[in-house]
Amino acid sequence: MHTITLIPGDGIGPSIADVAVRVLEAAGVEIQWERVEAGMTAIDKYKDPLPEQVLESIRRTHVALKGPLTTPVGSGFRSVNVALRKEFDLYSNVRPARSFDGVPSRYRDVDLVIVRENTEEFYAGIEHYIDPSRSAAETIGVVTRAGSERIVRYAYDYARKHGRKKVTTVHKANILKYTGGLFLDVSRSVGAEYQDIRTEDKIIDNMAMQMVIDPHQFDVIVTTNLFGDILSDLASGLVGGLGLAPGANIGYHAAIFEAVHGSAPDIAGKNLANPAALILAGVLMLRHLNETAAADRIEKAVAHVLSEGRYVTRDLNPGAPVGTTEMGAEIIRNLS
Ligand code: NAD
Repeated sequence: MHTITLIPGDGIGPSIADVAVRVLEAAGVEIQWERVEAGMTAIDKYKDPLPEQVLESIRRTHVALKGPLTTPVGSGFRSVNVALRKEFDLYSNVRPARSFDGVPSRYRDVDLVIVRENTEEFYAGIEHYIDPSRSAAETIGVVTRAGSERIVRYAYDYARKHGRKKVTTVHKANILKYTGGLFLDVSRSVGAEYQDIRTEDKIIDNMAMQMVIDPHQFDVIVTTNLFGDILSDLASGLVGGLGLAPGANIGYHAAIFEAVHGSAPDIAGKNLANPAALILAGVLMLRHLNETAAADRIEKAVAHVLSEGRYVTRDLNPGAPVGTTEMGAEIIRNLS
């Protein structure tokens, strides 16, 4: 029996979390869920987007499945997602993007993994206006040698463990000579220790173009926080969109699994959201918990439903009158 913190989240979060929980349970994994609220939902209830009971639960369970959380744009409270990553030092954000048969997309057979540094640089929230009239603002992006080394090492170890052949470091060291330069230096020296893995580095702007032109040339990609965030949405677009992109936030003492996408306010409450990204995040979570057989079963069922293309949500088949719950039920029906 696993005890796992469940944060249903905002917007489409509760509906896809509901489906993900049902799929995980139907696969036969015994889970005791500790359901807690964060984000807008928690503000409404507790006047706090990250109540202590959320932190307390994750400290105890060490594992959470999380729906998306809304962050107000420009002003308002700071991102709860970022706060959780900082609080539990979830330094590694692993975001796989792979093609599924039957999913309309520009490419077939894409299979890459983005390993994004998750705690430093421009996401650290060190920023301010320089004067009361707000004539300018500055953000300080700190990149440390230790922070760079642990994420690059994570990427190479991940590559080894998963039989992958190449790690591409993505940076902007031509312009950001210190922060980008440090990350690149560390990456080259760590990479030299892994003679069995091919190593290359690319400047972010070229990388974005290369991924669009020929994503098959990439395997594991390691990069700093902001570039990783942007490239992972790009990667999801190569394989059929955000509805299929899962992510894992991994630290030494805790891990939080979530979809790459956000709370999608434009489709919230309409039974339109694709639940697959969060279900696949659940699969990553089961692998983390060594529940390999159940993870394989769920992944197979998702792949089957996607390949048939009938019981899938509107983002994948605009003609099918299939909602979040119906797609979830079909995945459960296909668990073998
Ligand atoms: P979004 O990812 O929520 O939505 C982008 C587009 O993708 C929208 O058109 C949406 O309808 C579509 N989409 C997203 N998920 C989908 C799904 N499962 N099925 C079908 N379509 C889907 O990005 P946004 O609109 O820029 O952000 C909305 C909110 O989410 C913001 O407050 C943002 O801060 C937050 N956010 C949270 C997380 C997280 O919790 N980790 C990640 C990204 C954004």
